[in-house]
Amino acid sequence: MSAKKWVFLSSEVEDAENHVGGDWDSVRGLLGGKGANLAQMTRLGVPVPPSFTITTEACNSFLAEGEQFPAGMWEEVLVALKSIEKSTGKIFGDPNDPLLISCRSGAKFSMPGMMDTVLNIGLNDETAQGMITLTDDPRFVYDAYRRLVQMYGCVVMNISDHPFEEVLTEYRAKRGVEQDSELTAEDLQAITGKFQEIYRSNTSTDFPTAPLDQLRLATEAVFKSWNGKRAFDYRNAANIAHDLGTAVNICTMVFGNMGDTSGTGVATTRNVSDGSKVISGDYLTNAQGEDVVAGTRPTKEITDMQAEMPQTWGEFEGILQDLELKYRDVQDVEFTIERGRLWFLQTRDSKRTANAAVKIAVDLVSEGLINREEAVCRISPDHVDFFLHPQFIESAKGEARKSGRLYTRGLEVSPGAAVGAAAFDADLAEEWGKSGRPVIMVRPETKPDDVHGMLAAEGILTCRGGKTSHAALVARQFGTPAVVGCTEIQLDLESRQMTVGGRVIKEGETISLDGSTGEVFIDAIETFAPELDDPNLLQILDWADELRRLQVWANADYPEDAVRARKFGAQGIGLCRTEHMFFDPERLNTVQEMILAKSSEERQASLDKLLPLQRDDFAGLFRAMDGLPVIIRLLDPPMHEFLPSHDDLLVEVTELRVRGDNPELLAEKEALLQSVESLREANPMLGLRGVRLGIHRPEVTRMQVRAIIEAACEVASEGVDVRPEVMIPLTSHVNELATQQVELETVAKQVMKEKGAKVAYKFGTMIEIPRAALTADQLAEHAEFFSYGTNDLTQTTFGISRDDAEASFLIEYQEKGVLPSNPFDTLDQGGVGQLVTMGVQKGRATRPGMEIGICGEHGGDPRSIDFCHRAGLNYVSCSPFRVPIARLAAAHAAIEHG
Ligand code: ADP
Ligand code: MG
Ligand code: MG
Repeated sequence: MSAKKWVFLSSEVEDAENHVGGDWDSVRGLLGGKGANLAQMTRLGVPVPPSFTITTEACNSFLAEGEQFPAGMWEEVLVALKSIEKSTGKIFGDPNDPLLISCRSGAKFSMPGMMDTVLNIGLNDETAQGMITLTDDPRFVYDAYRRLVQMYGCVVMNISDHPFEEVLTEYRAKRGVEQDSELTAEDLQAITGKFQEIYRSNTSTDFPTAPLDQLRLATEAVFKSWNGKRAFDYRNAANIAHDLGTAVNICTMVFGNMGDTSGTGVATTRNVSDGSKVISGDYLTNAQGEDVVAGTRPTKEITDMQAEMPQTWGEFEGILQDLELKYRDVQDVEFTIERGRLWFLQTRDSKRTANAAVKIAVDLVSEGLINREEAVCRISPDHVDFFLHPQFIESAKGEARKSGRLYTRGLEVSPGAAVGAAAFDADLAEEWGKSGRPVIMVRPETKPDDVHGMLAAEGILTCRGGKTSHAALVARQFGTPAVVGCTEIQLDLESRQMTVGGRVIKEGETISLDGSTGEVFIDAIETFAPELDDPNLLQILDWADELRRLQVWANADYPEDAVRARKFGAQGIGLCRTEHMFFDPERLNTVQEMILAKSSEERQASLDKLLPLQRDDFAGLFRAMDGLPVIIRLLDPPMHEFLPSHDDLLVEVTELRVRGDNPELLAEKEALLQSVESLREANPMLGLRGVRLGIHRPEVTRMQVRAIIEAACEVASEGVDVRPEVMIPLTSHVNELATQQVELETVAKQVMKEKGAKVAYKFGTMIEIPRAALTADQLAEHAEFFSYGTNDLTQTTFGISRDDAEASFLIEYQEKGVLPSNPFDTLDQGGVGQLVTMGVQKGRATRPGMEIGICGEHGGDPRSIDFCHRAGLNYVSCSPFRVPIARLAAAHAAIEHG
């Protein structure tokens, strides 16, 4: 191999491709996203100012070798510079007609605002003078010059922005103007001088006047910014590898601030709020790039350009179209117009709202740019999630942005919109929350002591922390919208206020936060609850259905849940928890009578009362799921869950005894207490529940089976296609199943005989104890289907009690990196997953083609769904609200793994 090449001209894109072996992803790795796209645009003939890129490999070598440029790199830079000089006809440092350049960072993945850029390199007193002679525009030249000193001071020498901004404020006040653009040439010249003094007093050196020194130091600064704290924290939070390095892009400066035929702006090839096919963006005449982004001047709609510069607009529109065609996706561009001449400085795939994402994906398919599979891949589970939470009205948010109410930004870690009064500690958040006042809890960061406040809050906002911070983990766990890592906020807990750039929000004032975008706004923004009827979303989900192999079922206990689940696309009910019907307040009394019955006659009498109620519930489910399977699980929780709490009863009894005024009630309560005591268990989760209860109280199983089969016969006679599946919970030994099967079949036969009808049903079991998975081949002798109850299976595999753990040490485990994620959110593939895979193999060895699914909450988690696809399950069953997400995730899994 020839000597390493560290520098590529933007016209040398083929060389860069050869250097890395051809594929575009590697070119992006080598040149960074910005550099690769500058080269790509150059190849397409898009006007890009002559540029070159110093590779990420050079950055990595620089950082590894004690901050020394790799041998030969600087020489290559000088050669590349010569080439730029040749194409521009200007010379770097020439006092008569100087070339000016920018030095821009750009990693493989976009890290907005995390690393640095210096503009106008090459200016000093002499070249500035030359440019004034040339342009006859001293105002423009001194504006560029003062920007160079400021950016250079901040970026290269780490001086704070503060003293520079102070000088600008002072001059604006002196002239009685609001905008920097209203300052005169003399002002800007004086300001440049003051900036150089700030530079001198902060660094004890003079501002470097030699252009090549400026370039070298700026390049070093960009390399070093890769390891800056901001960038480092961002990568941790965004899961970007630390060893990628940044490229440095050296671009010929073009000027948008050379009068009214000049301008600069940012644009997207379509509207990325609603997805409509119109160019959107902001621009300013007579301004430089960062003016638009910084929001220091009110900007114009990009479409105004059409009237103001019709010719440029035509060219602009054409290029945007070309870019979209080339990249086959909506682009987000930066451009500058210098005296009527259009230049592109950046393009990248645009960020977009969920609304826009589905519309754009569907439109790109009908325009023939991408196929259905690609369209489905471009939609993320979070996009679908968006349609299921309250959201800000996009136009209201746009208004808020325009009127300057965007307060700050952080990392979006838990989606959804939240509006409330800012509360700066957990106790206050809880107090206000409980009194019905919506709150947003704002903290520097959160700790376990803060959880009570977080639970009461509509939203959570923190100054520090990333995607795996305590605040982010808790917020996601409870589905609370959250924005973390808002480093701009200065939170003063003494004076109870927070400040961003001089704007103060006092405790109790209303703020709005968008957990899907990371934006924080002053005051309330109107919200709406989206419906799952967006035609583009439905189209994407239809395509997902065509692509996936895994079925999606829903966990639903009541007929109305089943109706919703079916509307969302569920193909069956994977879990109906019959005990939920028992908890109904109107029935609880009868259930308690049944539990406390002294004799089997008494118990049977209570069961007889429950039978018709259960039968109606099941009939409702069957009707709703006409033609689709419905898995009904027999009674699962320990009996004491249906009784009053032991501690409460004890207090009541003690009080009655002390008062001594109601012996009758006392006797009743004492009897109840005794029964409760007799059912008390040290560890109810591992006690008398599930199939154990069914064996202990076979009459309950009989009643439930009777209700199921009677309902099935009744509904079948109405012409409904009924597909009941009866499921035994918490099995650990094959004999448990065998025992229950006999019980069940006897009743089923009996009922069908009584009704003179026949309905097909399946008999199966949950697998939620490791022993069941280990002996799945034996269980499959009896069970016609398995359903993995991964909530309990995770508890029993880890030996962790979920309720205790999630409130305490599981968060700590994730913060300390002991566990990569909460195993109750994302299936633990290494442990629990092995039990699933093993059970599938063993079960199907006994009973080929056996129906197997999961019904734990993991059934709605995209990463777990990916696993279920690979494990060869037939379906995942999840909450009705997660069904659309599961449909998409199942398609992603099928596309990725085949
Ligand atoms: P960021 O990644 O923060 O957007 P950029 O490197 O893209 O940083 O540059 C910051 C701003 O300066 C952008 O508005 C960009 O368009 C502008 N800019 C960068 N290089 C040049 C140049 N050579 N001529 C004119 N404007 C430039
Ligand atoms: Mg940029
Ligand atoms: Mg269970």
